[in-house]
Amino acid sequence: MEHISIAIDGPSGAGKSTLAKALAAKLNFLYVDTGAIYRTIALYVSHREIDPGQEKEVLDLLLDIHVELRYSSDGLQHMFLNGEDVTGEIRLPEVSKYASAVSAYPGVRAFLLQMQRDLAGKGNVVMDGRDIGTVVLPDADVKIFLTASPEARARRRCAELEQRGTPEPFEQVLSEIQQRDWDDIHRETAPLRKAEDAIEVDTTSLDFNGSLRMLMKVIEENVV
Ligand code: C5P
Repeated sequence: MEHISIAIDGPSGAGKSTLAKALAAKLNFLYVDTGAIYRTIALYVSHREIDPGQEKEVLDLLLDIHVELRYSSDGLQHMFLNGEDVTGEIRLPEVSKYASAVSAYPGVRAFLLQMQRDLAGKGNVVMDGRDIGTVVLPDADVKIFLTASPEARARRRCAELEQRGTPEPFEQVLSEIQQRDWDDIHRETAPLRKAEDAIEVDTTSLDFNGSLRMLMKVIEENVV
């Protein structure tokens, strides 16, 4: 049986994860946060104190890594790294930097490609990332490219960090977001770009509920 897949790509902080999670719950689809998978690899690189700029050393480490996704009864995606639940730890800001660096390596992306496709093969999914519509699921039923201005994204990230009890100055968060955008757009392998057949949704002036309504509308109009 053919499953329905919804691909959501876009820069960091556009609200992909929160919105994709809410969409999946509304539609009763599985939610796959692929950024969390890259973050899990990145966490291992940082635990082993490897310089993420050293491609060969990073690729060698992949042999020691077992990444697994498990879903709790409330549908939340938990990441397991060699059997340990690292769901909270992968959100730390230093892991973001490592994730951006290691995700630029073709070897890392190839290592994770089949895993992501297998997840989409299990049932109806909402999958979010950077290259879901372009590389991972080029035949996705609906492709959404979610954007927002860098300032709006930095404000949201600041609020999120504050809520977690790890606040950071706005200017720093903004410059990190701009740096990650630049890295994600300019890398050679699977750069962040809108798939030709993706629908762009800009959430700069929308709140959470407004964004969710907009996404539901796009999906209803496009899943036949
Ligand atoms: O989405 P999130 O910010 O958690 O992703 C962390 C990093 O992983 C991003 O900076 C991006 O470079 C990378 N990533 C990627 N491809 C994906 C998902 C995330 O390269 N499909």
